[in-house]
Amino acid sequence: MITCANPAAQFQSYHEEIEAAVLRVLRGSRYILGEEVEELEREFAEYIGTCSAVGVANGTDALEIAIRALDIEPGDEVITVSHTAVATVAAIEAAGATPVLVDVDPVYYTINPVQLSEVITKKTKAVIAVHIYGQSVDLKLVSEFCNEHNLYLIEDVSQAHGGKWTGKRLGSVGDIACFSCYPTKNLGAIGDAGIITTKDPKLSDKIRMLREYGWKQRYISEVKGRNSRLDEVQAAILRVKLRYLDIDNAKRRKIAEFYSDNIINKYVKIPVIRNDIEPVFHLYVIRCKCRDELIEDLGAKGIQAGIHYPVPIHLQRAYKGRIRTALDMSVTETLASEVISLPMYPELSNTDINQVVGAINEYSQ
Ligand SMILES: *Cc1c(COP(=O)(O)O)cnc(C)c1O
Repeated sequence: MITCANPAAQFQSYHEEIEAAVLRVLRGSRYILGEEVEELEREFAEYIGTCSAVGVANGTDALEIAIRALDIEPGDEVITVSHTAVATVAAIEAAGATPVLVDVDPVYYTINPVQLSEVITKKTKAVIAVHIYGQSVDLKLVSEFCNEHNLYLIEDVSQAHGGKWTGKRLGSVGDIACFSCYPTKNLGAIGDAGIITTKDPKLSDKIRMLREYGWKQRYISEVKGRNSRLDEVQAAILRVKLRYLDIDNAKRRKIAEFYSDNIINKYVKIPVIRNDIEPVFHLYVIRCKCRDELIEDLGAKGIQAGIHYPVPIHLQRAYKGRIRTALDMSVTETLASEVISLPMYPELSNTDINQVVGAINEYSQ
């Protein structure tokens, strides 16, 4: 079976270094917020090009803490897309704010900047730009809108670690950026982990307090905080993987290029990449009107495909009818029934990707 993602294969690629890193932690004396986390934070900030990075427990917490750090409160609204991981929207509510959802554009599947002015109100405080599938949002239009209306720009980079927009690393453009390091992500831990980056040292101090009970000094809470600490084992593993992130992303781009050059089937639409960006193909997502049939066909040929995502958030039971959206959500709604994520991870072999292309090209109705 060729799977959609394969974090175990990545562990195998770097297992000697990862095992050594984990042993170093086990034999050390700090298991939470020690040297490994500090070093990871320093190395990641340098990699992204921000003054600071703060390790937290997972990507959802990263978003929630980012929103809280910006003093966004109950009653305030945060605009984002419905075409994203449910975590993006869940984090807005976890922070006590109100999510407002817009559609994505029909070509790149990232936030539709035109709808921002449709949904903005006096209560709007921030926009969360989600770099979906490893493709960058049109950050020019979105940051112009945010500047013009005095809104914070939060980047959700959970699917685009290492990607670039006009030469800048994603996560270095907005006021704050949030990364999930869930095992299947481009930079994945072997467990849960998340990172927040910012260029503002004051915000960074606040984020550090919020992740540990609001402490500035041990046992003394300055602000209402919580526990979202990153542990040393995950940080040590992430430090190993960070060293290979650019190499692994280049492998993902090569696989994507092979798919795009060789998939030829009139029922299938391949992804379109924005100019001026360096994508990192967290996922390689094609579209097909008979999606479920094609997935079944691939499954029968030993290829496991994924669906990101099958139901738009504004139509899911937990959210339906109580979340304000833009009037036209048709792109998101169409994507939910047409998208297919093909196997995509750096360790895929030439035989694997040839098999995937062959299976798709053979498909007919
Ligand atoms: C994975 C993901 C998250 C959530 O991260 P967790 O670490 O699972 O909490 C948030 N946003 C996007 C776009 C994601 O893909």
